[in-house]
Amino acid sequence: MLYLHIPFCQSRCIYCDFYSTTGTAALRAEFVRQLCRELEWRKDYLPQAAAEVSAPSQDDRKGVRPKSGTGRTAHLSSVYWGGGTPSQLHESEIETLFEAIHSHYTLLPEAEVTFEANPDDITPQLVSRLRGCGVNRVSLGVQSFSDTLLQMLRRRHSAARAIQAVETLQAGGIDNISIDLIYGLPGQTLEGFRSDCRQALSLPVTHLSSYALSVEPHTPLSRMIDRGQLQPADEELFLAQYEVLLDATAAAGYEHYEISNFCRPGFRARHNSGYWKGVPYLGVGPGAHSFDLVSRRANSPDLPAYIQASGSDVPHETERLTRQDRINELVFTSLRTSDGLDLARVEQQFGPAVRQTVARCALPHLRAQRLEQCGTVLRLTRSGLFVSDSVMSDLMLSS
Ligand code: SF4
Repeated sequence: MLYLHIPFCQSRCIYCDFYSTTGTAALRAEFVRQLCRELEWRKDYLPQAAAEVSAPSQDDRKGVRPKSGTGRTAHLSSVYWGGGTPSQLHESEIETLFEAIHSHYTLLPEAEVTFEANPDDITPQLVSRLRGCGVNRVSLGVQSFSDTLLQMLRRRHSAARAIQAVETLQAGGIDNISIDLIYGLPGQTLEGFRSDCRQALSLPVTHLSSYALSVEPHTPLSRMIDRGQLQPADEELFLAQYEVLLDATAAAGYEHYEISNFCRPGFRARHNSGYWKGVPYLGVGPGAHSFDLVSRRANSPDLPAYIQASGSDVPHETERLTRQDRINELVFTSLRTSDGLDLARVEQQFGPAVRQTVARCALPHLRAQRLEQCGTVLRLTRSGLFVSDSVMSDLMLSS
């Protein structure tokens, strides 16, 4: 799997702490040149034998990094353009980057190629050029269908523009469309969020991601709350809005396959599902993260330093995962999904003692019906979804 981080936004939304900047055309051009170099420099990053598998190999379980760098191009089952706002790139820059991807990697015929876009940037011309590059899925940052809330968040688009973007994508032949909604926004009522869900689910989209607003430190949103300019939503309203989300998506026939993700049958996001299944991925661009089964790597979120890097790599930090990290990641990511945590897999990867510990920690939650067990698989129940953080942390091993 390949992730490209495009660190440009036309303006900054008040809640966002993703790495991005408002850049000039010259800066963008330099960035694209450097991103092409990074794609070449790191073409051997993905472990070859395990590049597209969902579980660590026998070698990996012993802490041995799978072979890399033997000259064969990595086969990609998905490419995800995120950011920032990838649709801030010029169409010719997007094409240049796709050429670099095709020069150094092999896309599998059924690869999912997702492009994140701001609704304001969607034009028939962009859609046609994206299709020409092989993009087959677009993720639109809609966030809300209330113009008042969109303006409060300093989003660029309006609700009408978001609806029009979906129509333009469809007319241009991209019908695998995901939209994002946020709940728990200051000033957002229960009825207002219900109306957002209704509007989203009435559109011809295949996928909905909906996250509770998280107030991150050092964002304009957190300063506005500290100054009393905005009132955060209370916990009760958050939970009621999540309940509305679960009911509305179920009534629309959507599959609830991850705590915050819903899709029409057959349209799970393959790229994000790969993250939750522990598939290795290469992330390029400033601030992008990578995972090669034994370590996690984070490129520095620093565009000037990224552009200036020469040699054979860009500034980054690497953290080798301990056995405990890997056990906890398996527990955490698996329980987020409707596929659940398979205790047989825990035993296969980490041995019977770890399985017994996890099973023992699950018992109080099974009794309280926050978890259910089907065969060897543990899953969150509907009531467990509302307290998922505490259930997952109870099942994680502490040092
Ligand atoms: S467009 Fe997306 S990445 Fe850019 S500031 Fe807004 S939320 Fe953040």
